[in-house]
Amino acid sequence: MQLIIQNLSKTYANGVQALKDVTLTINQGMFGLLGPNGAGKSSLMRTISTLQEADSGSIMLGEINVLTQKEEVRKILGYLPQEFGVYPKIDAVTLLDHLAVLKGISNKGERKALVEALLNKTNLWQARNKNLGGYSGGMKQRFGIAQALIANPKLIIVDEPTAGLDPAERNRFLNLLSEIGENTIVILSTHIVEDVKELCTDMAIINKGEVLYKGSPLDAIAELQGKVWSKRISKAELEDYRKNFNMISERLIAGRPEITVLSDSQPDSTFEKIQADLENVYFSHVFGATEKVVA
Ligand code: ADP
Repeated sequence: MQLIIQNLSKTYANGVQALKDVTLTINQGMFGLLGPNGAGKSSLMRTISTLQEADSGSIMLGEINVLTQKEEVRKILGYLPQEFGVYPKIDAVTLLDHLAVLKGISNKGERKALVEALLNKTNLWQARNKNLGGYSGGMKQRFGIAQALIANPKLIIVDEPTAGLDPAERNRFLNLLSEIGENTIVILSTHIVEDVKELCTDMAIINKGEVLYKGSPLDAIAELQGKVWSKRISKAELEDYRKNFNMISERLIAGRPEITVLSDSQPDSTFEKIQADLENVYFSHVFGATEKVVA
């Protein structure tokens, strides 16, 4: 099954154009949707999840027209929103059982087996009788995945799932997602480059509602190989370098800026060539040359 998004646009009532002619084909496996805050990721995720309307364009999930056959989509969709609220005074078993009833699984034995399997899969078995209010951030996110998996979905959407997780929880969560991605479409929306680098076979970068790159992370990195240059400079020089070079990032190391520049050849002998990585790809698209010329 494929998710095919074509020419999708959305402008909110306040005039913000959150999606501009978005066209993407998403296959089974983990797909990373990468973009800074305000890029339009949630707008796109909510539209695919049938929670809001688009102004124009189309979304097909296999044979299902997502924009018109909402009930059909909901039957095979697992959605983990950015703010996933839980009922704090209920334990995981009770809530999963209840949600399974709502999803139409009426056989008690079937529900019990399903709830047990989900708790095991998400590594929450030990904490199954604990109230959800006492869960850590990572446990809540894993519970979110457990509930998203109830109906054996064909499409799973997770919106900024790793924000606020500590490194161990984040790893555990991402491993769980990649396991699921083996036979499902999983869309991981995030502003964290590392999440995409580690897991996704395919990705898109969006900013200001527009798709700036689509393809595999590895191809994106390969395109930049040999073109990324780095140099330590003084703070006083920063303005000049910003003006005169195609700078894609700057960071302070022990109080001194280290800048990264994109150039087909060595800008001058003081620059050192560095291995391109996905962060360079991301910055080159999001803060790329075209924007700098305008600035
Ligand atoms: P992201 O998820 O990438 O942070 P969003 O889709 O939430 O991006 O937001 C894209 C743009 O649309 C932002 O400028 C945001 O302020 C605006 N926006 C999001 N939701 C609404 C809304 N319901 N009404 C008006 N503007 C919105």
